[in-house]
Amino acid sequence: MSIQSQFIYSPDTAGNAGSIVKRIAIFGSTGSIGTQALEVIAAHADKFSVEILTAHTNHELLITQALVFKPKYVVITDEKKYTLIKNALSSTDIKVLAGEQGLIDAASYQGYDIMLAAIVGYAGLKPTLEAINAGKTIALANKETLVVAGDIIIQKAKEKNVKILPVDSEHSAIFQCLVGEEKNVIEKIILTASGGPFLGRKPNFLVNVKRDHALQHPNWSMGAKITIDSATLMNKGLEMIEAKWLFDLTPEQIQVVIHPQSIIHSMVQFEDGSIKAQMGLPDMKLPIHYAFTYPDRVVTDFPRYNFKKPNTLSFEEPDIKTFRNLALAMEALNKGGNMPCILNAANEIAVFAFLKNRVGFLDITEMIERTMEKIPFIQHPTLEEYYDSDGEARVFAASLIEM
Ligand code: NDP
Ligand code: MG
Repeated sequence: MSIQSQFIYSPDTAGNAGSIVKRIAIFGSTGSIGTQALEVIAAHADKFSVEILTAHTNHELLITQALVFKPKYVVITDEKKYTLIKNALSSTDIKVLAGEQGLIDAASYQGYDIMLAAIVGYAGLKPTLEAINAGKTIALANKETLVVAGDIIIQKAKEKNVKILPVDSEHSAIFQCLVGEEKNVIEKIILTASGGPFLGRKPNFLVNVKRDHALQHPNWSMGAKITIDSATLMNKGLEMIEAKWLFDLTPEQIQVVIHPQSIIHSMVQFEDGSIKAQMGLPDMKLPIHYAFTYPDRVVTDFPRYNFKKPNTLSFEEPDIKTFRNLALAMEALNKGGNMPCILNAANEIAVFAFLKNRVGFLDITEMIERTMEKIPFIQHPTLEEYYDSDGEARVFAASLIEM
């Protein structure tokens, strides 16, 4: 089935007979990606409708979004907020669901075409799997889904003939470089990384880094978890694993290069030695917009890169001796099985603890490394075994916090 065949024909949208409206479900609508996605949709109200919005605890923003975009469903995973939302939306037809089950039920709803998977962390896995089972196109921001259970997700997407359209800027860049190259062999991909706020720093500096400093990313404004992952370079490690699954690559085919300006979003090198790069200003609205409009390109008013200003685009090797999270992620990528799932779980616990000022910046690496050593390795896990490995890794990593 082609992607287009999944979209409905809607003669009455914006009075524009013949237009195709893509019906979008935004899982994680109150986050950095979710709110930017709503800006993209608002700018193209003739092309997109919003069918589902979900949040974890931010009921106020969810209510505001619901009143503006009028979805069929809203879901709040924090069940204590259910009544507040129900009351606030009582004069509308919007149905309110709650809890993890609410997410699953909404994901299986028939009346949408594309799920924007923009929940942060492991919590995004189950609803995304449910949407794949329901045959929906996935615009994937939540990289943790592929890190935790990439083999199962990709296998299921193939079985259900479901397209996974990357929203992560690097993977969107690679995806865009590959348009028209379906029959050609990729020699390798080059994932670019800004290097984060501590580029060039050494452990004697990093040991004293505090939460607020780590949350200052030089080029991108993002949610707290991914901002810390960018500062530790774990984000690039997670992206290597994400790329392996999205583009069916071996670990040797995935290279990381530091590119502090974040103008080249990633590159593909083909077997003839030619390299294609996708460029643009660092703005997540562009990859979100591309995933929604794919395979078309649709005009936007986003700011353009200016070649008339003096610019330098520079590249350097990542320092994986200092930023050991990237080395640990490479180890997990090479080992495969449940190791990336263990890495991810330990990282989520460690980053959350760092954000609460309970552990130091370098303790994050220590916690992940010890958890990877502790939790039993499984070469070919079932989905249940991934869930179990995640749970065990979380419990063990949390036990290290009092160290
Ligand atoms: P945010 O923290 O800004 O937003 C996360 C969203 O998920 C919010 O809507 C939040 O609800 C919801 N959420 C949080 N925890 C849970 C939970 N346990 N169950 C259900 N929903 C939950 O994250 P980002 O938007 O920055 O990132 C989202 C995903 O996209 C991540 O996987 C990230 O790696 C990826 N990504 C993000 C980029 C960015 O620029 N931000 C770039 C590339 C990828 P609430 O607001 O109520 O807490
Ligand atoms: Mg990225």
